[in-house]
Amino acid sequence: MSAVMKQSLQTKLSLHIALVALLTVALIGVLSNVFVKRRFESYIVQRQQQKIADLLSRVEQQYDPAARMWDTGFLHAIGMYALRDGYIVKVYDRRGAMLWDAEDCDMASCAQIVGEISQKMRAREPLAGGSFTARDFPLTSEGETVGKISVSHFTPYFLSDGDILFMDALNSLFIGCGLLSLALAVALGRLLARSVSFPIRKAAGVAKRMSEGDYAVRMEGGSDIRELDELTLSVNRLAQALGRQETLRRQLTADIAHELRTPLTTVGTHIEAMTEGLWEPTRERLSSCREEIERIGGLVSDMEGLARAESGSLKLERDFVSLRELAEKTFRGFEAQILEKHLTVSAEGDCRARVDRKRMQQVLANLLSNAVKYTPPGGVVRVVLSETDDAVLLAVEDDGIGISPEDLPFIFERFYRADKSRSRASGGSGIGLAVVRSIVTAHGGKVTAEPLPEGGSRFQVALSKKET
Ligand code: ADP
Repeated sequence: MSAVMKQSLQTKLSLHIALVALLTVALIGVLSNVFVKRRFESYIVQRQQQKIADLLSRVEQQYDPAARMWDTGFLHAIGMYALRDGYIVKVYDRRGAMLWDAEDCDMASCAQIVGEISQKMRAREPLAGGSFTARDFPLTSEGETVGKISVSHFTPYFLSDGDILFMDALNSLFIGCGLLSLALAVALGRLLARSVSFPIRKAAGVAKRMSEGDYAVRMEGGSDIRELDELTLSVNRLAQALGRQETLRRQLTADIAHELRTPLTTVGTHIEAMTEGLWEPTRERLSSCREEIERIGGLVSDMEGLARAESGSLKLERDFVSLRELAEKTFRGFEAQILEKHLTVSAEGDCRARVDRKRMQQVLANLLSNAVKYTPPGGVVRVVLSETDDAVLLAVEDDGIGISPEDLPFIFERFYRADKSRSRASGGSGIGLAVVRSIVTAHGGKVTAEPLPEGGSRFQVALSKKET
């Protein structure tokens, strides 16, 4: 026994579906997070550039070109406002003299803002390696450089509290959606796994019961999965076929017992009477015993023939054979019955095929024997030979009793007899057509039976030209 613990189909399917869902959610989460983050970063960088441009223009507005002087009154307000936003501003006049310096004004606030922003950004983006850097921009008025401004801020970018809140909310949304989709995928996966594994488990249960000999068991219920419906159908067909085989096997035992009992009893009583001196061992009595023994021999050789034909070890010795010649030769074997029943027989058309002569003659003999047997006196039996592009066709037709539609699907099965009492009375054992099918199949061909509209039946052997 294998030491490996086997998983159930449902567990395996559920695990795989959950794994795929997890990977998909993680991938989508990471990709969209990276994408959104990139876009957001470039938006922040743009916004910061815009802020610096606004700052510049507001500072430039404090220059009075007429007086060629700076109005430093508002510079403080602009600088302090910028400081709160994280920009440390220094303004110089055209000669480079300091007009306003945020650090001079409020050293403590500057240090606090630098510390807070650096700490916050390094905690959020430890790998970005950002730092406070200062950049100088010229201040112009009416096309003339009137001073210089130095703006120091955390580069490449920094996030305000609002930005951080927005990013955190976005991240929570991603994680929430991811978890929700994962939970949904796992739940749906489990449902799907269950709907797939349930009928398979049921099929396994039915197969087990069949292996225990219960062929009446059937799988019920359809599903919305085509393959599972096919499985249900196949399992039910298998049960039906096994049941039929079982019935045939039982019937076979009963048939063999019955077929053997009658001649054995006759022979037994005859010989007993003769050995005890009650009966003279006359020629007639001895030949009647021989006939009975021959009947037993015939049955046994029928069964042997079938066993050989069905064993798959049937070796064909193929030759190019005229099927018409073969049919006429076979007809001669039935001359006595044909004459006795005043049957009209004929062979029409001709074609040649590469077949095992003896086996094909056996096929013809079995088909003709049935046609002769099941056609009332005065009837017609015909062998019709024809060919199509890819097959050689051999048909045996009669205008006899015909085959009922209920029996049609089964007549090629071993020991199947449409009308049990009548076939037995006519010497049939239900083996002939099974032998025909085995031999034709060994030739790579197909045999079919159909009732004729005007009464009687038609058996057709189709031999593929590729095979022959
Ligand atoms: P059997 O030895 O009983 O004839 P077969 O296997 O040859 O066995 O045939 C199976 C059954 O098929 C027969 O019992 C008979 O009912 C039916 N059958 C076969 N050939 C014909 C036919 N030409 N006309 C009517 N019924 C036929």
